[in-house]
Amino acid sequence: MSFNALVVRKDDEGKTSAQVEQIELDDLPAGEVVVTVEHSTVNYKDGLCLGPGGGLVRDYPHVPGIDLAGTVETSDDVRYSPGDKVVLTGWRVGENRWGGYAQKARVKADHLVPLPDGLSTSDAMAVGTAGFTAMLAVMALEDHGLKPGTGPVLVTGAAGGVGSVATAILAARGYEVAGVTGRPETADYLRSLGATQIVAREEINETVKRPLEAETWAGCVDAVGGAMLGRVLGQMKYGASVAAVGLAGGAGLPATVVPFLLRGVNLLGIDSVMQPYDNRVRAWQRVASDLPMDKLAQMIQPAGLGDLPKLGADILKGQVKGRVLVDVNA
Ligand code: NDP
Repeated sequence: MSFNALVVRKDDEGKTSAQVEQIELDDLPAGEVVVTVEHSTVNYKDGLCLGPGGGLVRDYPHVPGIDLAGTVETSDDVRYSPGDKVVLTGWRVGENRWGGYAQKARVKADHLVPLPDGLSTSDAMAVGTAGFTAMLAVMALEDHGLKPGTGPVLVTGAAGGVGSVATAILAARGYEVAGVTGRPETADYLRSLGATQIVAREEINETVKRPLEAETWAGCVDAVGGAMLGRVLGQMKYGASVAAVGLAGGAGLPATVVPFLLRGVNLLGIDSVMQPYDNRVRAWQRVASDLPMDKLAQMIQPAGLGDLPKLGADILKGQVKGRVLVDVNA
């Protein structure tokens, strides 16, 4: 039986185009588990893979979608049985393997995580890689000593996917949250997620002038990188940590080592793609317990497979607010 998939094709001139097509189970790549996909989402990497590929996609035709959540249809692996609810993020699925922008996916059992109690497939994809990574970042900060009551935690790229979820999780855990945004019109949205302070992007986006500024932030979830990250390092409190998640503002890091040497600041790298299984399970369980679902509802814009080419272009321009929830049956 055929089903819908968003397929990206490349023509003889190297130009890519994406459209909804009918494909068959036999078209899907090898793997031990067939998942009836219910929901997916849109991340920055999806924007790249929906367009010319950004070097992530090697073979065409390609089905993007770095995240998926759904129900196991068939399984050749003892860990999964038909009817199990599962979530998949990372492992380069949707990049060098076909991903979640289809009504069915055939995947490796090793890449799946059982959906924790209390999370639906739509909740999981409203969270998606962006939210999962935000959770990993908060966990890393807390594993390095961050506690509520020690000062404001800065979230950069706050109105984006990572930033929105990080803001909501931190606020729900009792942290004071300062959100950096380049879109002043999102201030009310950020406050509704729990931010108590809004910092204008231009205030903090300039290349570091002095290696150390006033000790301001007890922690930071950084989705932006570049000059902003360099600047933030010099504003951290003594012994505080920055979780480096993203590069929405650039991959460079104009900074000095002085904050590390004189203030014991920690720069923690956060990778969601190759994250070991046990920590994935821990992070999804923490999402289920720590992220208020009413806050999640405010972040969501719904979409279907046919909306994805436009949404992919929008996220590359930094124009997506919060999280996109893709219903592959819509
Ligand atoms: P979004 O596009 O949803 O959010 C990024 C936000 O960054 C924007 O909404 C905007 O926030 C801000 N921003 C955009 N451009 C600039 C700029 N030039 N200078 C300063 N700020 C800017 O993306 P996601 O939240 O999904 O992802 C954020 C980053 O994290 C991306 O770089 C992504 O690749 C990375 N990422 C990394 C992962 C990992 O495993 N390490 C996993 C998931 C994502 P505002 O409008 O509020 O200013």
